[in-house]
Amino acid sequence: MNKPRITLLASHERELLGHLQSHPQGHEMAAVVLFRRLSHLTPGLAESDRYIAVRVIPFENDWVTSSSDTHISFELKYLRDLFRQSEEESLVFGFVHNHPGGYPDFSHVDDDNERTLLRALTNRNGKDIHFVAMLWTNNAWKARIRYGQQPESVQKVRHILVHGRPLKLYEYEKTEFADEDISARHAAAFGQPFVDKLKSLRVGIVGAGGTGSPTALLLARAGVGELVVIDNDKLERSNLNRVRGAGLDDVGKNKAQILKDFIALLKLPTNVAALESLIDQDPAALDALASCDVIFGCTDDQIGREILNTALYAYAQPYIDMGLGGQIAEDAEGHPYLRYHHGRISTILPESGECLFCQGVIKDVWIRHQYALRQNPNLAAEEARERYLVGGGEQAPGVGPFTSAIADYGVATLFDLIKPFRKLPGELRSDFFTVDFVKMEFQSRSERNDTACVYCQQKAYLVVQEKYRLNRPILGKPNVAL
Ligand SMILES: [Zn+2]
Ligand SMILES: [Zn+2]
Repeated sequence: MNKPRITLLASHERELLGHLQSHPQGHEMAAVVLFRRLSHLTPGLAESDRYIAVRVIPFENDWVTSSSDTHISFELKYLRDLFRQSEEESLVFGFVHNHPGGYPDFSHVDDDNERTLLRALTNRNGKDIHFVAMLWTNNAWKARIRYGQQPESVQKVRHILVHGRPLKLYEYEKTEFADEDISARHAAAFGQPFVDKLKSLRVGIVGAGGTGSPTALLLARAGVGELVVIDNDKLERSNLNRVRGAGLDDVGKNKAQILKDFIALLKLPTNVAALESLIDQDPAALDALASCDVIFGCTDDQIGREILNTALYAYAQPYIDMGLGGQIAEDAEGHPYLRYHHGRISTILPESGECLFCQGVIKDVWIRHQYALRQNPNLAAEEARERYLVGGGEQAPGVGPFTSAIADYGVATLFDLIKPFRKLPGELRSDFFTVDFVKMEFQSRSERNDTACVYCQQKAYLVVQEKYRLNRPILGKPNVAL
């Protein structure tokens, strides 16, 4: 059974609530939302479409024939243009209204209205359509999906996620606190809703090495319901100082698969999909990534980070990127020492925070260099080393306690997004901070504020319609689902 998820940007929610709550006598109000539907089956995980809001269209006054605090009636003829738009742009039509009188759920009148809309929509656009109904009542969203092929059935959603700080979740499955639960201590610290929200999430982890492996294990132990782990690399002996969940017998196996197998041994209630892939080359990996609610970037790969820096906007995903960097010098006796060494946590939401380019984490010149290295792997190791350690890019020697500390801070950052607990001092940015392992300090640089940035300022990729996946021909055309 496909239990879909709905995602709204913070600006969509603001626009909707501004309109729904604007009637001078407190009558019901309505709006249309057009959604992109991402329908990707990720092997090993439950089928769960994502409907990402693209556009909000408030009802105009003359569309409404009558209203009160318990009903709203409207003329269909005004909606036909929006039916046409949804077909032309391959978007799913959504009807949104509110119950200012406080009736807590969809009503019989809503059933009738939705069936009428669905009939009109299928008459215009054919039976292979989906229809989203959303309701704002008692300060919370409710939502359900109807299908043109089965007009009488109604599908509940898994959750509704609204971006912003905090990340808001609605309609997730609620459970009772129990002292013997695996999550009891987290429930004690952050409340049972925090635990239930994590359970509802699908979290992607790109890179399953020094930071990715502890990140995955912390998320599984925190009760995240589904993980998608993507890594193309095989485990090497020299990784064993820091990679969690791996032993000598795993050397030579794929890192993502090792994590999946290890988490299975723990018998925690987390389903894991493992993909041995490069996300910049494998459409299946990108589709699995697009199916996630939240992404952790745990790769030291500039090309991969560039993809994630685009995907977070295109697929509306909070993105937590981690990296380590530093410089090793030699003392007078020729012994190495850490001149400096830091870990970094970047937290980018589709509508807030600077992107990885603006944060100086990725640069075109480094990305081009990495492509060149792929073409010619024999490019001097010395050159690669220079680029990473001296050039300011990030690749760390891989010290176990440093990589896992950054994973700890990264996962705690997700916790803080869901249930804010941090009170950052003024000099620290919520979207970018580093931990200096030599001086033992937290730091942030100042923002770049580059108004020309196509990612975080111009928002050129924000829930964009893709001709190709992320508009990169090499990744192929997306499977468009109406
Ligand atoms: Zn209603
Ligand atoms: Zn930017």
